[in-house]
Amino acid sequence: MNEIILLKLGELVLKGLNRKNFESRLLGNIHRRLRPLGKFKVYSRQSTVYVEPQDGEARLDEAYESMKAVFGVVGVSRAFPCEKTASAIAETALRCLEGELNRARTFKVESKRADKSFPMTSIQLSQYVGGRLHEAHPNLAVDVKNPELLVNVEVRDYAAYVHAGAEPGAGGLPVGVNGSAVTLLSGGIDSPVASFMIAKRGVELVPLHFFSYPYTSPQAKEKVLTLAQKLTRYCGRMTVHVVPFTKIQEEIRKNCPEDLFTLEMRRFMMRIAQKVAEENGAGAIVTGESLGQVASQTMAAIAVTGAVCSLPILRPVVGMDKEEIVSVARRIGTFETSILPYEDCCTVFTPRHPQTRPVLFEVEEAESVLPVEDLVREAVELIERVVVKP
Ligand code: ATP
Ligand code: MG
Repeated sequence: MNEIILLKLGELVLKGLNRKNFESRLLGNIHRRLRPLGKFKVYSRQSTVYVEPQDGEARLDEAYESMKAVFGVVGVSRAFPCEKTASAIAETALRCLEGELNRARTFKVESKRADKSFPMTSIQLSQYVGGRLHEAHPNLAVDVKNPELLVNVEVRDYAAYVHAGAEPGAGGLPVGVNGSAVTLLSGGIDSPVASFMIAKRGVELVPLHFFSYPYTSPQAKEKVLTLAQKLTRYCGRMTVHVVPFTKIQEEIRKNCPEDLFTLEMRRFMMRIAQKVAEENGAGAIVTGESLGQVASQTMAAIAVTGAVCSLPILRPVVGMDKEEIVSVARRIGTFETSILPYEDCCTVFTPRHPQTRPVLFEVEEAESVLPVEDLVREAVELIERVVVKP
């Protein structure tokens, strides 16, 4: 029997009646992720998903890496199936974990029996396998508290499995179980992290980017597409919506007081996001705002910006320090792209003294000279859609 991948499921195990729905979502997401890597059989039993290569062409190493980024999975291990007898289990451990057994100085065997008809208790099985491993590797000492190598044995319905411990999975909930949301994706550090955090809670993302050509360069747009592409490792395939934003920004500059430029611009972003959300059946809007980080992220500014939307606005990094956001960005692999030096549309017409304590009726009055509805409609009609895949 050949090496397989075992996935431990997280929170979704707890979800009672919704469990079936969660599980089928997760299996669908896993299938899509594995499709480009060859033929795999995927099925779930007892809170574990089994990923079995079907031929020699299936790329197991890549599949293993890819499974670590699937939301809904808390642990990933490479396991060796064998016959359900104590001696077959010990021989499989000796053969398949030879490298690990040679490297380690201390070890412990831990057994679990999902199949209660197995003739030994878990403790007896661990003792037997431990004894055989020690016999073959006399230098290897048993350490039950802090072993360098933990040999896991699982006796399940159809086979027994031996593996050397699981690596952490991505956690969270399967993408799609919590509906979808439009995420405002700039080229900065914060919005990819915010997007990741909401996707992790089981939300399918529709990324929206505001592009101000020629004030911002084609590289700025490429950068955002690269960021979205990096997120697909976790979120799966997405359609990035690129909104032409130049005209709106120019109208604001021509007609509104300078200290309100950024706020007026952000209100247009939110109106457009709301429209795109409605078109896509999305239930929320996600931003990378962090309280007090810049003038447009004071509490009063956030209130004025959000006032144009009726959908909930999710701001998962609102209470995080920049350093905390950066550490997530590094971990998920978006940081290096985010710090590339291409300007964002927010920096194009930055006021010298932005209003940090805006008053809603003044902001509304300032924009009342603009054909708001027409500008929004036109921008939405001109959206360019770009599909990004893992
Ligand atoms: P980020 O690092 O995500 O760019 P930031 O600290 O630069 O955030 P702002 O530029 O004020 O903050 O933007 C706040 C949020 O507004 C961003 O996190 C993002 O969600 C959204 N946003 C800003 N600019 C754009 C843009 N050009 N396209 C889409 N969304 C944007
Ligand atoms: Mg920004």
